[in-house]
Amino acid sequence: MAGEPQADCLFCKIVAGEVPATVVRESETTVAFRDINPQAPTHVLVIPKAHYPDAASLAAAEPTVVADILREAAEVAAEDKVDTSGFRVVFNTGSGAGQTVFHAHLHVLGGRGFNWPPG
Ligand code: IMP
Repeated sequence: MAGEPQADCLFCKIVAGEVPATVVRESETTVAFRDINPQAPTHVLVIPKAHYPDAASLAAAEPTVVADILREAAEVAAEDKVDTSGFRVVFNTGSGAGQTVFHAHLHVLGGRGFNWPPG
């Protein structure tokens, strides 16, 4: 059923506490933890506790959780003190855009400069 935990999903295992992660925030609907391969001084992933393969399917099924994720991202940026210098949020959606883990997640990146357009 949509949103149910998937046995073979790494991020569902992090939500369940079965795989260790450096969790920085948790809400009723979301978990935020540090990326294992950080691309910036701050690199945190904010994920829904429910399993959806990408941001588009999450938005279609549970749009309020997308707002929860963005609110948590802003809190992460404030806690890491990268909110004033600027931070970037990214939902890679689909393998062509670089998505490698198919449980929706928002990258929160900060603490360095960023280029536009992104690579
Ligand atoms: P994607 O490429 O947008 O799907 O991002 C997946 C992210 O998950 C990558 O930045 C990985 O470094 C990160 N990642 C993969 N496994 C783990 C883990 O076990 N803990 C924390 N981050 C992870």
